[in-house]
Amino acid sequence: PTGTIYRRAEWKRFLERVPDHVVIAADEAYFEFVRDSDYPDSMEDHDDRRLIITLRTFSKIFGLAGIRVGYAVARPDMIQMLDKVRQPFNVTSLAQVAAIAGMDDRAHIARTLQVNAEGMTYLEGEFARLELPFVPSHANFFLVDVGDGRAVYDKLLRKGVIVRPMHGYGYPRHVRISVGLPEENRRLVAALGEAIGAQS
Ligand SMILES: *Cc1c(COP(=O)(O)O)cnc(C)c1O
Repeated sequence: PTGTIYRRAEWKRFLERVPDHVVIAADEAYFEFVRDSDYPDSMEDHDDRRLIITLRTFSKIFGLAGIRVGYAVARPDMIQMLDKVRQPFNVTSLAQVAAIAGMDDRAHIARTLQVNAEGMTYLEGEFARLELPFVPSHANFFLVDVGDGRAVYDKLLRKGVIVRPMHGYGYPRHVRISVGLPEENRRLVAALGEAIGAQS
């Protein structure tokens, strides 16, 4: 939930220490958002020896969360194992059409990256102005230290703004805030200012 990345050297060190019989699942849900060139693509490390499975989703950069489609890339023998336990027809034909169209829609992807980058810059400035510590993010959300995560979550909810409280992840002081459209970001900032102002 932090929005941070691991880098190539850390990933290599990790790979070297995992025994060959252990399956490594690389959850790359935010892969397309990351612009740091040192963020590894786990697909480059697939080989005959290691059991790496790369997981990607159409729920994030492609904006198709309601369609329920994603994909896994792994060795054929691993995919055959998955096939034994997955439900038949689990990805509908309409979802497949939407996913393929999404991959081809370079303009939408570029626009999403741009809107997200601008939203990140705006929110970073506003969190600083509100004196709220946050974790620098490579994705499309921020982990923000608001003092009492649950209380701020409740106050924002009453103002019609949904963030995620993080006590379940071991961050009782934090909420997770997704980057939205410019007007949504402004509304979040206004509500957040009121919520923390009223807090102490
Ligand atoms: C969104 C997300 C996924 C995938 O979600 P689906 O909508 O089920 O495809 C996987 N891992 C993380 C960390 C995510 O944020």
